[in-house]
Amino acid sequence: KILLQVQGLTASVADSNTEILKGIDLTIREGEVHAIMGKNGSGKSTFSKVLVGHPDYQVTGGAAIFKGENLLEKEPEERSHAGLFMSFQSPVEVPGVSNMDFLRMSCNARRAAQGQPELGPLEFYGFLSPKLAALNMAPTFLDRNVNEGFSGGEKKRNEILQLAVLEADLAILDEIDSGLDVDALRDVANAVNGLRKSSNAILMITHYQRLLDYIKPDFVHIMEQGQIVKTGDASLAKQLEAGGYQAIRGGD
Ligand code: ADP
Ligand code: MG
Ligand code: MG
Repeated sequence: KILLQVQGLTASVADSNTEILKGIDLTIREGEVHAIMGKNGSGKSTFSKVLVGHPDYQVTGGAAIFKGENLLEKEPEERSHAGLFMSFQSPVEVPGVSNMDFLRMSCNARRAAQGQPELGPLEFYGFLSPKLAALNMAPTFLDRNVNEGFSGGEKKRNEILQLAVLEADLAILDEIDSGLDVDALRDVANAVNGLRKSSNAILMITHYQRLLDYIKPDFVHIMEQGQIVKTGDASLAKQLEAGGYQAIRGGD
């Protein structure tokens, strides 16, 4: 079953004519893991931000259908409530809001959108505890303000905890491997793998094969200048690791 279908998507920086996405086609089905790779500045982060409705960008053409509905006409919150999640390359800090409250609010907002009753603090803690344990995160983490003073690795783990709490259908993970040491990378990757189901999917953006050793992609896409110029299986990432982007283009 198709989760996301993107066709001919073009987008530019809001209030400017600077076109960044120049016609993206991508289909993601339930149960699949997709990886997008590509040089710096090729448009990977822009693509993911456009999907979640980031206000810095405007869509200028094409379509994006998520779970049968037009994604592009939805507000960012509605996209999240519909089951789309994105972990940002640089997660924001939310001063004055505890991580626990933030997670419970996010969870309850999605539940409300699905017509489910809110979880009270105790119920929520019961729901959250096993997820926290799976991520090797101490409960004291919940008392701290969202991302305030978190190390790079803690921020990434926190993003995955948010993903776990929201039980999203499609998770877009933008460079979750950046700034992680080997142990943290393994923990985060294992946690992501633990969230995989036959009904959900992952779109990962990464520069490195090592993340793909842990989270095995079904499809690898190469982005260049705002377009997906090549799609293959996991071996494409290995080819890239071995010979750089030139090797991939040369193999055409
Ligand atoms: P990647 O994630 O692949 O490194 P990005 O999507 O971050 O690439 O950026 C793609 C291109 O779009 C880059 O040239 C970048 O400078 C430009 N760009 C992205 N966002 C903006 C913005 N808000 N304003 C101006 N240029 C932008
Ligand atoms: Mg970049
Ligand atoms: Mg980027």
